[in-house]
Amino acid sequence: MKLRCLRPPGILKILFPNFVWRYNSGLKKVYLTFDDGPIPESTPWTLELLKEKNVKATFFCVGDNVKKYPQLYRQIIKEGHAVGNHTFNHLRGWSQNTLNYVENVILASDFIDSKLFRPPYGLIKRAQAKHLLAEYKIVMWDVLSGDYRQDITPERCYRDVMKKIRPGSILLFHNHVKADKNMRYTIPRLIDDLHEKGYEFEICE
Ligand SMILES: [Zn+2]
Repeated sequence: MKLRCLRPPGILKILFPNFVWRYNSGLKKVYLTFDDGPIPESTPWTLELLKEKNVKATFFCVGDNVKKYPQLYRQIIKEGHAVGNHTFNHLRGWSQNTLNYVENVILASDFIDSKLFRPPYGLIKRAQAKHLLAEYKIVMWDVLSGDYRQDITPERCYRDVMKKIRPGSILLFHNHVKADKNMRYTIPRLIDDLHEKGYEFEICE
């Protein structure tokens, strides 16, 4: 799959205007988010860096990973970050019926205490969204880092992300082995650059 565009397609924003795509308050704030963890390969490194830079972020967790690594989940919370539900099995909404999908989110909610939800792959059916919106705020993103892409260099990942950031941007990165190389290169530089430009980092709410 080729994902040249680092912003979500406009059609999704039109279909789902009640999702959060960006926190558009006009203030110089950005929202760093990490999907798919927690995992021992990425999350401890991420937490260490965020602590060192004094930055808070939001982790959209896969329930099954929280079940496997509860101590990492607890560490995320203890260190002042926010968490969100990202289903239990990282399901693709478009290939699931609504009942299965919603039940998988409910299962994840046994492990993840949050009223925020982000659909894996950004793919969700209208009926699924309608059900979930009764309980959750659905938080998407306006800057997709492409950190998981194997066809771009870490330098390119960093450069492309920096170009797309504007006040209120929600930045999507991953705690996933495939994304690790690009993520580890980009995040520390991005934090330093944005601090220099006067941006503050906020958690999703
Ligand atoms: Zn995901």
